[in-house]
Amino acid sequence: MSPQELKDIWQQILSHIQLKVSKPHFITWFQRTCVLDINEQGVVTIGAPNGFQQTWLTSKFYPDIFKAAKTVYAPTSKIIVKVEAALNNPSDPRIIDIARLNTNDKSSKSPSKNIPTVKTSSLNPRYTLDNFIVGEDNRLAFAASKAVSDAPGQNYNPLVIYGGVGLGKTHLLQGIGNAISKKFPKKRVVYSTSENFTNELVEAIKTRKAKRFQEKYRMVNVLIIDDIQFIANKTQTQVEFFHTFNTLYNDGRQIILSSDRPPREIKLLEERLKSRFESGMLADIQPPDFETKTAILRAKTQERGQLLPTDLLRYIAENSGDNIRELEGILTQIIAKVELQNQIPTINVVKEIIDKSYNNGAHPQERVKRNINHDDVINFAAEHFDLSPQDIIGAVRKKEVVVPRQICMYLVRKELNYSFERIGEIFGKRNHSTVIHAYNKISSEVKKDKNIVRYVNALKRELAL
Ligand code: ADP
Ligand code: MG
Repeated sequence: MSPQELKDIWQQILSHIQLKVSKPHFITWFQRTCVLDINEQGVVTIGAPNGFQQTWLTSKFYPDIFKAAKTVYAPTSKIIVKVEAALNNPSDPRIIDIARLNTNDKSSKSPSKNIPTVKTSSLNPRYTLDNFIVGEDNRLAFAASKAVSDAPGQNYNPLVIYGGVGLGKTHLLQGIGNAISKKFPKKRVVYSTSENFTNELVEAIKTRKAKRFQEKYRMVNVLIIDDIQFIANKTQTQVEFFHTFNTLYNDGRQIILSSDRPPREIKLLEERLKSRFESGMLADIQPPDFETKTAILRAKTQERGQLLPTDLLRYIAENSGDNIRELEGILTQIIAKVELQNQIPTINVVKEIIDKSYNNGAHPQERVKRNINHDDVINFAAEHFDLSPQDIIGAVRKKEVVVPRQICMYLVRKELNYSFERIGEIFGKRNHSTVIHAYNKISSEVKKDKNIVRYVNALKRELAL
């Protein structure tokens, strides 16, 4: 079967499943999935972006998937779910935008003739600023979101929110969109992902409707583009986006963007776009700390009409990773247990759920390190801080060099578990007490110094630690 046929089949299967599964579940577990293959025996192989979704799709949704697949494609004999890491890239062509699944067919049946179709419905009402939990790590991003939704186009323009996967960027962007639509019903709010923007542009050019595309995007009051980093490397999209940006900006319209890293660090993004993005408000979201995680868990349990003991919530917060989507997944499984068995699961059961959830993927507590050694850390840091590797391991004691050096020592110890002696050896034959001092210093600074937090996170991200 051709890739397009597989995609069509999966789209139909998803439409069936969607009717059976609650929306949050559907989005959490079916996003970025695809059909990889259907063989002659009728075995349908489904791809999931991580082990987490794989486990959940196989254990919980097998009957729904199987039934839907059978309806759509009668020869279906069996479903297999495999991890397909490439699906983590949202612009992978096999991915179906499930947020648009149900609106799709309706809108294609009744296309409005003259008005360019502006889909305000791509806002998901589930995401609001009210149900966003604020902690130290996202306080700035939240405050900026609130300010923008109170007075769009006035102060923070553009607003760029950046941070790692599953930390709440989409939630905030959608929350702003929903708040503005509610407060200013006349304003045209458009939410789109950068892949979507790109796809529409390509389609518009192919069908000679570029003008309509431009009208659509240049007529809005509030333009929200999620995951802007994906326009890197796409020259034509960048040119078009630049013009859209200028038109809106000069007219005092609000622009809101998200990115998985600071604009400066998006490689292959035009300089003029970087500087536009930096001209407004840049707000980062850091990985949630223990307090924020516990608060999120408590809020989400209440949202689902459940009550779980605090020590259990704390246990989950302590033993899970940074990604809040995964955290929600774990909670969903625990709540399912509570509902099914009518009793609070023991810590052991919870532990099992957590372990299983990270099965195949990287368990945050015992992450399988890729083949990374101290040289990688030093080289990355050198590039990041614009130094030479020699500077980093050398004897120079200027502040510009000392801090990166200490960060490197810290990362090599914390992430790669080298002994203090060995680190001293590598970093210019220093005494191990110097290394311990550096380690302690950075350990305490990552708790309070925002710049250090940023550096450490940027390096960890580049190294995929
Ligand atoms: P990102 O876009 O950064 O990858 P999302 O916005 O999709 O992350 O967040 C992942 C999930 O975690 C969503 O279901 C979102 O509602 C939830 N979430 C993230 N941060 C928070 C928060 N501070 N409060 C409540 N829910 C959150
Ligand atoms: Mg997102």
